[in-house]
Amino acid sequence: MTAKRNTPQKGIILDTLCRMRSHPTAGELYEEIHRLHPSISRSTVYRVLGQMEEDGLVMRVCLMGSDDRFDGNVIRHNHIRCRRCGAVADIPWVEVAHPCDTAGYEVTGYTVEYTGLCPACRKAQAKQIG
Ligand SMILES: [Zn+2]
Ligand SMILES: [Zn+2]
Repeated sequence: MTAKRNTPQKGIILDTLCRMRSHPTAGELYEEIHRLHPSISRSTVYRVLGQMEEDGLVMRVCLMGSDDRFDGNVIRHNHIRCRRCGAVADIPWVEVAHPCDTAGYEVTGYTVEYTGLCPACRKAQAKQIG
């Protein structure tokens, strides 16, 4: 008995996360799930999210100045965050060279976070400037 039970809740939570392209926080994901499936509790969403993260089905995204967010896209990619509205989008992965001086540290990983203005905010700004 090594097969993991694929509970219906797990399917609903994963589907909802994959459908939301916004990289929701656990709380935001719960709100959306609760709207459609009021019987699924907050603790179930948090517990199942943790399990799915361990199983590599979802990715936890840590961005500066934001609660941890979750991503149903587990193919390696980078993120760009709008510095005006906080929206997060997927962008293709680009390999970054390690610096030649790592201050005596062994490098085990790195995080690249691009910031900018999302299309909606660029439009709003263009309107303001006229
Ligand atoms: Zn924006
Ligand atoms: Zn992503």
